[in-house]
Amino acid sequence: MKHLGPLFISHGAPNLALDDGPAHRFLQQLGRELPRPEAILVISAHWSTTAPAVTGGAAPATIHDFYGFPDALYELRYPAPGAPTLATEVHQRLAAAGLDCGVDEARGLDHGAWVPLMLMYPQAHIPVVQLSLQTQLNPAHHYAVGRTLEGLGENGILVLGSGGLVHNLGRLGPPGSPAPPWATDFETWVTKHVEAGDADALLDYRTAAPAAATAHPTEEHLLPLFTALGAAGAGARGRPLHRSFDYASLAMSCYAFDMAG
Ligand code: ZN
Repeated sequence: MKHLGPLFISHGAPNLALDDGPAHRFLQQLGRELPRPEAILVISAHWSTTAPAVTGGAAPATIHDFYGFPDALYELRYPAPGAPTLATEVHQRLAAAGLDCGVDEARGLDHGAWVPLMLMYPQAHIPVVQLSLQTQLNPAHHYAVGRTLEGLGENGILVLGSGGLVHNLGRLGPPGSPAPPWATDFETWVTKHVEAGDADALLDYRTAAPAAATAHPTEEHLLPLFTALGAAGAGARGRPLHRSFDYASLAMSCYAFDMAG
């Protein structure tokens, strides 16, 4: 049986799907190097609901949930099948932990899911389910949701948190310009604590990390990190697989979590 640890990836701007660059090439290579998953469970920054929900449809549509980008991006489709049996399993795991979980038969895949998956698995042959965030709730909630997903990797399910390690759209710079110190300080702090497996520090990032409120004026692009961390098991450590910045401050960091135990 394939053994897949959870991943956190930064999906950047939607044009990552088409525009070449270090993170674009990294995601293409990652898809070639990972053992082929049976199915993928994506926790994306771009789907938040009051209570957790999973996509339950057999053929999720491609959602173009972004504005003002080139027409070519709106023509892209990612026709991966859904995985209703995985959706049911996730629903049951959350319910067993006392967490309400809805199943949304109609919801498609948002760009936080399909943009990186299009690079990783361009054939769109691996079934995909999304699990929503609750942006009104804190990192500890998202970590607890992740803890219910522990062991999915042993069944060949890739748990993929998709957000952005530094994400402040008001503080972007020209492509190719150097990352500002507040962004690199934050990224370095998170990477250090991911490598140490220090979940307590990470969950407290808002007060403990340098420039946290500048790096994340809103939290939705960091919350998938906590779900991936939780899914790896208590005390799990992560490894940086990729670190770069786009538009000066948009951190494209990606981590693999080794399953604890
Ligand atoms: Zn995003």
